Amino acid sequence: MKEKASWTKTTCAYCGVGCGVEAKINAQGLLDIRGDKEHPANYGQLCSKGLALGETVSHEGRLLHPSINGADTDWPTALEHVATQFSEIIKEHGKDAVAFYASGQLLTEDYYVANKLMKGFIGSGNIDTNSRLCMSSSVVGHKRAFGSDTVPICYEDLDHAEMVVITGSNLAWCHPVLFQRLKAAKKARPELFIVVIDPRKTDSCAIADLHLAIEPGSDVALFNGLLSYLAEHNKIDTDYIRNYTEGFETTLESALDDNDDPIQLLKKLSLPAEQLATFYQKFASIEKVVTIYSQGVNQSSQGSDKVNSILNCHLATGRIGKVGMGPFSVTGQPNAMGGREVGGLANTLAAHMEFGDENDHALISDFWNTDNLATAPGLKAIELFDAIAEGKIKAVWIMATNPVVSLPNSNKTIEALKKCPLVVVSDCIKDTATTRVANVLLPAQGWSEKSGTVTNSERRISRQRRLLPTPGEGKADWWIISEVAKRMGFSDAFNFLHEGEVFAEYAKMTTLGNEDGKTRDLNLIGLTQLDAKGYGKLTPQQWPVTTLQETIVHQRMFSDNLFFTPSQKAQFIAVTHALPKAECSEEYPLLLNSGRIRDHWHTMTRTGLSSRLSAHISEPFISINAAEAQYHHLKDGDLVEINSASGSALVRASISEAITNKQAFMPIHWNQANAKKASVCALITAHTDQSSGQPEFKATPIKIAKW
Ligand code: SF4
Repeated sequence: MKEKASWTKTTCAYCGVGCGVEAKINAQGLLDIRGDKEHPANYGQLCSKGLALGETVSHEGRLLHPSINGADTDWPTALEHVATQFSEIIKEHGKDAVAFYASGQLLTEDYYVANKLMKGFIGSGNIDTNSRLCMSSSVVGHKRAFGSDTVPICYEDLDHAEMVVITGSNLAWCHPVLFQRLKAAKKARPELFIVVIDPRKTDSCAIADLHLAIEPGSDVALFNGLLSYLAEHNKIDTDYIRNYTEGFETTLESALDDNDDPIQLLKKLSLPAEQLATFYQKFASIEKVVTIYSQGVNQSSQGSDKVNSILNCHLATGRIGKVGMGPFSVTGQPNAMGGREVGGLANTLAAHMEFGDENDHALISDFWNTDNLATAPGLKAIELFDAIAEGKIKAVWIMATNPVVSLPNSNKTIEALKKCPLVVVSDCIKDTATTRVANVLLPAQGWSEKSGTVTNSERRISRQRRLLPTPGEGKADWWIISEVAKRMGFSDAFNFLHEGEVFAEYAKMTTLGNEDGKTRDLNLIGLTQLDAKGYGKLTPQQWPVTTLQETIVHQRMFSDNLFFTPSQKAQFIAVTHALPKAECSEEYPLLLNSGRIRDHWHTMTRTGLSSRLSAHISEPFISINAAEAQYHHLKDGDLVEINSASGSALVRASISEAITNKQAFMPIHWNQANAKKASVCALITAHTDQSSGQPEFKATPIKIAKW
């Protein structure tokens, strides 16, 4: 193949840092990759996964053709089949008998069309996404405190912070380019005080001045204790609290009640007194503090409250919307933010507009020209799969995700999908644990074949661009959904010719009720006039986008101290400490944590293609410490049988001093399709946060035995 001379700017396929990538087709027809020096997420840096993107674009394992019940078919037949089946099920059982389960791997344009079809025209709220498993607790926390799902910070704040608290995040492995940025800041300014709060001593601790190995699940107690300390030591910003917030007194009262006995607090946290005192003193005395948090906070039966306990401390000190300070939710997937923006979660209507608001309903119905807009929130991920198991949902379309692996209790998910009359899966990979139980398979385009936008953790919208031809008959997800919509009788609303048209419609939707741009809003008004050429050339834009950003801007939200609540004041939320739902017992004495490793992504369908990435850690494992290993007569590398109340697994022991006594850790990447007995989700029970519906992935009681 002739070498293409120029480098094309695109965005990494993996985590929510959203690094800019430059790619060029090489003589082998594959991609050479380098970091985009102009992209403000990474300024040319890439981590091991980003650098290996070119090694993962082979056609190995790709889903090439549509199929129905195992037999290949053509696109018109497959689309007609899906449309007819969905229509018939809706006619017979009602609109809530069908559901979509989408993914943070979808581009914003795909998400928009899926949400429009389900909520706007089928008329059900039943579209949820694997983002539910990632950061839905942060969404709840943001909405409760700020009146909107808004990340206040920009990455630049890390360069100005004087103290950075990393809690519930192994940033070094999960958001490596952000970690490197922080490491460089620490090198340039050794006085930058870094705290890592994590039961494990992860690689992120390498740059920490203080590591707080708290008791799993004790985050609310820790931050309530901090709020009490700040108030008792006159370190709160009373002017800020009085002028820009509501609910402080009740929240402080509740925090004080939660921690009235310092000895009890230390016991709850399992921390030495001097470590806790250092943390509280530093937070109280250093002005510019950023608190980074991620899945260790979100993936919990108390995730939303944990988020608000952090936000409470930032609001109480007025450390939000100012340079070098603020709470910072780092998202997992490349487009977790884009999905949230268009309304891809079951409890959001569309584009920051909500169920229950009559004005929003009227605006959207008019904009989409529909009289069938969903009127109530749909089922959140766990509820949705429960409804499939109970036979209430009779058709589900799973887009670009592998819920059999990623949801808790894999065996239950498999059984639910086997019983479901219609399971449609659109994916670019042929053999996954979920495609194995599908009736209809629809081949989708993968990274470097599809084109659209993603939004990263600092609210920056970047283009993913098409570079390579799609193998087989793969199509863009927005196209597949639109073609089904047309065959369901909704032609007028889904006549998109190009992904740029979808984006333009979405951008217009963000301005509803504010077309003149005069009202303060979370809109993309500056992008509504983009034509195909403008969309093609679009440079990174950080929302809100009031005018097209010709140069890179760095915006933080709430610098005007106005929030999106009815009173425009931020809300303190009173929260109290609670233990994880499932407690260890005599039968299951160890607490299992789960998470990512440095060089793999999700279920390894892409990163598993790179031998370089697989060389870092090549096998599934369970980490335990030496004392635990000795107790069970285990050596490093021995096979270990693991049992929980939900299931079992068999992996090798990895003895690590990073793990505290009575705790264990397993990575999430291995599963039924790539290592039969190594799925951590087979062990996890679906305990969820009451407000967000996010499952508790970090606290599963288990027992282990040498195999
Ligand atoms: Fe990709 Fe995330 Fe690595 Fe950046 S940090 S290169 S977005 S995986």
